[in-house]
Amino acid sequence: MPDLAQRLADVDARIGEAARAVGRDPGELTRIVVTKFHPATLVRELHVLGVRDVGENRQQELSGKSADTADLADLTWHFIGQAQTNKARAIRRAARVVHSVDRARLADALDAAAEPGDPMLDALVQINLTEDPGRGGVAPEGIEALAERIAASDTLRLRGVMAVAPLDEQPAAAFERLAGYAERVRAVVPDATWISAGMTADFAEAIASGATHLRIGSAITGERPPRA
Ligand SMILES: *Cc1c(COP(=O)(O)O)cnc(C)c1O
Repeated sequence: MPDLAQRLADVDARIGEAARAVGRDPGELTRIVVTKFHPATLVRELHVLGVRDVGENRQQELSGKSADTADLADLTWHFIGQAQTNKARAIRRAARVVHSVDRARLADALDAAAEPGDPMLDALVQINLTEDPGRGGVAPEGIEALAERIAASDTLRLRGVMAVAPLDEQPAAAFERLAGYAERVRAVVPDATWISAGMTADFAEAIASGATHLRIGSAITGERPPRA
């Protein structure tokens, strides 16, 4: 626990420095702690430390941990992983934000999974910054069509864009492209201002390029335990 508190404080200090270095207010940034591979008890420890935004990249872990922590009513779960359409219902039940909407069929499935009385689901267009279609995310030429599809749905609220930096490119260059793609989404929906970018290795670069939502795992949670 003391280690966890220390790592969280260290990361938050580094986020603050990175923001101030480029003239941004750290208070505008949402730091999401990615808890994948860690147990729900870690989520509870993080909550005690004031963390309210947590993220998972696999539906089963999302569903399990959100159920295990259902008493923590002020937690916001973010789903950040590649999603199969047949998991849309489970994702919708567990998450308030889905960062990884990368195709019309998934948008439609998440929309269709709404139940009466559900709040709007915050949705981000995940954009593939690589040339490899297997990496997840819509190719840049598909951005507008997907944004329009989400914006036209009854129960999804288009919030902005999400991306993961490629492995074989300087993150700063990739995140600059992402900033341009974010502008194209704002041309569709002007208040879709979120940019979800930046992980343990590259959050300072992401902040410099305008990221609003950082997805940070191992720098805060420590080494991931082996996959169960
Ligand atoms: C695991 C993961 C993160 C966090 O990665 P770290 O390098 O541990 O900070 C962020 N985004 C996505 C999509 C992830 O799967």
